[in-house]
Amino acid sequence: MRRDRLLNEIVLGRAVMKSTAMANPLQTMWEQGQAASVRSSISRGRLADGSMNAAASLGVIATIALTSVGAVAILDLKMTVGTLVAANLLSGRLIAPLSQLISSWRALAGLRDSAKRLSAILAEADDRRAHAIDLPTPQGRVQFEVTSFAYDPAAAPVLKSISVRFGPGGLHAIVGPNGSGKTTLLKLAHGLYAPAQGWVLLDDADLAQFSRDQVAAWIGYVPQDGFLFSGTVRENIARFSDSVADAEIVAASQKAGVHGFVSDLPDGYETQVGEGGGRFSTGQRQRIAIARALVGNSPVLLLDEPTSNLDREAEEELRKHLCEIARNCTVIVVTHSPALLQASDSITVLVQGAIVLAGRAEQVLPRLMGSNVRQVGT
Ligand code: ADP
Repeated sequence: MRRDRLLNEIVLGRAVMKSTAMANPLQTMWEQGQAASVRSSISRGRLADGSMNAAASLGVIATIALTSVGAVAILDLKMTVGTLVAANLLSGRLIAPLSQLISSWRALAGLRDSAKRLSAILAEADDRRAHAIDLPTPQGRVQFEVTSFAYDPAAAPVLKSISVRFGPGGLHAIVGPNGSGKTTLLKLAHGLYAPAQGWVLLDDADLAQFSRDQVAAWIGYVPQDGFLFSGTVRENIARFSDSVADAEIVAASQKAGVHGFVSDLPDGYETQVGEGGGRFSTGQRQRIAIARALVGNSPVLLLDEPTSNLDREAEEELRKHLCEIARNCTVIVVTHSPALLQASDSITVLVQGAIVLAGRAEQVLPRLMGSNVRQVGT
């Protein structure tokens, strides 16, 4: 598993590996992993061979013992040759299932291990329940009442006393230094984690009660690099589902500013995006990811540092589209982009997992300008 994990990382990070000339040390690490894997497979094979040899020897020893005892008994006229042959046949029948059991030992041990692993997976509680009834689409009011949240219960909390509400509608920015818990807040808003103490509410209802499908349909999420899966533009926007209508895809694409540049491509929505979406620029990929998040008219859209890899022009394009989307969708964006901050309706400043400043952008922005976020917190 270690060897395969490393191989996966090498493939994903091949550009970094080449540009930093790490190929040789990584190859050595992979070879060490491969050698360890071969060694353990040889020792497993040895064990299996040993037991199979033992089973074969048992058969031969039984035949030799029977024949020797039988030969003496025939010489003493206590047994006929026919009886010896019959005894040999019977002993073979008796020992055969035993040696079959030994030779299938490896398969049986594998089966036992697989069953153990499967039981452990099946015993895992489903993180979200399925709902029996279809609930109406929420308006998009997102409220955090988080007393504390920690990834590791033994460690210090990553978020403390967060009480803030967004929407419905509007562009809401979250700013703060690295490690202040901005991404964690988005993960809570997307239901990937639930706070140990407190709630995240969507239209006054605890997010934890909704199924994964409902959360995914109502709350769109756009990761930092706008990751796409190999397939066509249409498939990516439709989340690889056959049940999304073309009109819905075009509507989401228009809102995200995808329709124009995709329509200009020779294959249009049938264009292959390439591995990870490499056929498109970061800005285009991000807009396709926004369209994917908006499919189904999501009332909430979450974006994590969407401008970090964009040039000025692409940033301006994104700002325009987000402002348009925010008219009837609650857009929560983790950002440091002055263009997005200026366009925001509200700004929330996080420092070390706590809100130090929050309010309407025109009130918060002057305090942010010219001072860094850490100063604002003090
Ligand atoms: P930001 O987005 O503001 O840079 P994050 O929310 O990513 O901050 O991280 C806040 C803190 O939580 C950091 O100290 C980080 O080390 C920790 N953290 C983030 N993700 C995890 C995780 N999956 N497991 C454990 N700790 C994490």
